[in-house]
Amino acid sequence: MNNLLVKIAKKRFSNPKSQIVHFVDDEKANKFLNDLKKYPHAYVLACLMDRQIKAERAWAIPYEIYKETSTFELRDLEKIKLREFKSIFNRKKLHRFNNTMAEVFHEAISDIRRKYKGNAANIWNNCPSSSTVVYRFLEFKGSGIKISTMAANILARQFRIPFSDNYSIDISPDIHIYRVMKRMGFVPKDANNELIIYKARELNPEFPGIIDFSCWEIGRKWCKPKKPLCNECIVEKECRKVF
Ligand code: SF4
Repeated sequence: MNNLLVKIAKKRFSNPKSQIVHFVDDEKANKFLNDLKKYPHAYVLACLMDRQIKAERAWAIPYEIYKETSTFELRDLEKIKLREFKSIFNRKKLHRFNNTMAEVFHEAISDIRRKYKGNAANIWNNCPSSSTVVYRFLEFKGSGIKISTMAANILARQFRIPFSDNYSIDISPDIHIYRVMKRMGFVPKDANNELIIYKARELNPEFPGIIDFSCWEIGRKWCKPKKPLCNECIVEKECRKVF
């Protein structure tokens, strides 16, 4: 039988898709990142930027580049030299690692041209398996398993892009997920990434990453590091409250 956490996540997944996925606190930037038809590469590039800085800041980077270049057509981005990207990243202080991330950005654009015929949506078009999508994200410079599963997870869970299965979409542990999984008693207090990932697989093998957003939301709204709001929390009746 499903536990409450999985039930909540499945219910969200079965609800109609929300109008827009919120990545940042800027509606124009969100609209831009949600336009997978016109700018599918903006989504890919934003995922690749999501390393070692706050997610909000990372996800804003493609829109910041767009404001700078006045275009985000892939064929126009391709003409921009690496040194120009480095200059934009450094001048606008877009990332903690401006030179490295400018390289990641630049190389991803040429990979999308070369491997996906200039259309990043070919990464997820035609109902591929979840392992194929995760693998394709892993192939980008600078991408690891956390970014790749997150990218596939958002496509499946929030954009409702159809894959032939969701087995390979793991949870992407962050501080909120760690806290909630430990306090709920799913994993020991000293659990590492692997324990969290395999517990999520055990909880919902057909789509382990489905609980990712629910854990994150519980962690942000109720399961705060200090003074958790247990009385208001949606998983209170099944939580072991391990502190
Ligand atoms: S019931 Fe309390 S400890 Fe458990 S997840 Fe909710 S806020 Fe955290």
